[in-house]
Amino acid sequence: MKTIIEPFRIKSVEPIRFTTMEERRALAKDAHYNLFSLHADDVLIDLLTDSGTSAMSAAQWGAVMNGDESYAGSPSFERFEGAVRHLMDFKHIIPTHQGRAAEAILFSILGGEGKKVPSNTHFDTTRGNIEATGAQAHDLLIAEGKDPSNLHPFKGNIDIERLDAFLKEHGDAVPCVMITVTNNAGGGQPVSLANIRETAATARKYNLPFIIDGCRFAENAYFIKQREEGQGDREIADIVRDMFELADGMTMSAKKDAFANIGGWLALNDDELAQKARNRLIMTEGFPTYGGLAGRDLDAIAQGLSEIVDEEYLKYRVRSNAYIVERLDALGVPVVKPAGGHAVFVDARSWLHHIDPLQFPGQALAVALYEMGGIRACEIGTVMFGRAPDGSEKPAAMDLVRLAMPRRVYTQSHADYIVEVFEELSATKDKLPGYRITEEPQAMRHFTAKFAPIND
Ligand SMILES: *Cc1c(COP(=O)(O)O)cnc(C)c1O
Repeated sequence: MKTIIEPFRIKSVEPIRFTTMEERRALAKDAHYNLFSLHADDVLIDLLTDSGTSAMSAAQWGAVMNGDESYAGSPSFERFEGAVRHLMDFKHIIPTHQGRAAEAILFSILGGEGKKVPSNTHFDTTRGNIEATGAQAHDLLIAEGKDPSNLHPFKGNIDIERLDAFLKEHGDAVPCVMITVTNNAGGGQPVSLANIRETAATARKYNLPFIIDGCRFAENAYFIKQREEGQGDREIADIVRDMFELADGMTMSAKKDAFANIGGWLALNDDELAQKARNRLIMTEGFPTYGGLAGRDLDAIAQGLSEIVDEEYLKYRVRSNAYIVERLDALGVPVVKPAGGHAVFVDARSWLHHIDPLQFPGQALAVALYEMGGIRACEIGTVMFGRAPDGSEKPAAMDLVRLAMPRRVYTQSHADYIVEVFEELSATKDKLPGYRITEEPQAMRHFTAKFAPIND
């Protein structure tokens, strides 16, 4: 059959509240044009993030009831640890309440003034946690990854030559090498198995630990199966094992590729590092058999991990995004191609070319999508990355708008509606205003900054 259907039936539903365009204009203004400040029930289709927004399966809800809430030695922890180790065979698996908690713990040990951490592209919380210790986060993505229309199959790859040169020059200041799979900040683009292996070998050459930010490991493995030579006949779980086999550790948000609404972990092979991490964990998250989580969360993650590597699911997942990308492309909306794993990324800088990057074309498009269609998307561009720690302001590499797809939540007609909203916007997009920031915090400003339209 040609049609790829949602590989599930719906047993339980959440109603959506409808609003008018007029209402949404007022709501956006009240939120100071920061979509993080909207009430979720004023949103029609919420594509702000794919994080923690998954629909859990009946089996996961069943597992929730089996959660054991013992403070220490809970069997839920053992099921969690076993499910993680089944895919990623690390010696120490340390639960945390989110991915960023794993990052904070890791960099409280490895970070510090003068340190430099290279990656393909650090996600914003990773960068935030590195910079908060006085260290620097460096992105060494391949050039093709920064070109929204380049059809390279693995646009998340790290530039091995630059990594090698970086380590040669700064090796003493580098506590670890990282890679993010898939590359969230760069369009949800995958990293090839070959590139992961070369990154591991390069880190090893300089005697440095290699840490994978594995938030979307299953989507990455599916792309490897689809696109990398010799991988087409392999099981997703086996590809996942290969991805992590050469790493010395990982950080993970279970709110992504584990179908959980909360959770994460830090995994490490090094005993001494793991000991330090657990000491820190006890201070900030909780005892090592629960991290910041309830036993039931650990069980939801354990069950979710067995479902996320299902190829029928991954096929539907990746295809739903590719479908929207193809239709937007046909409308002349510039989109990051090929389609990423968890989201559709629109090149707002190029579509709204009348708006200067320092007037935030991504923010302008995100606000317009909400006002026009009640769709909540997320700017990934100059609002998110434009302000350096020294306070200076410059355009980010790209001004993208991310339509992140919650897992197993929306259907085909929602996708068609999204495309229709873009179609409507095409007619008036050249009149959309740029924005300025009227108030912003010290770091990670995109969450709480206030905006005003330039023409206001
Ligand atoms: C979401 C995410 C994180 C942080 O995880 P949280 O659970 O949101 O704290 C880190 N890295 C990447 C690539 C992510 O997508």
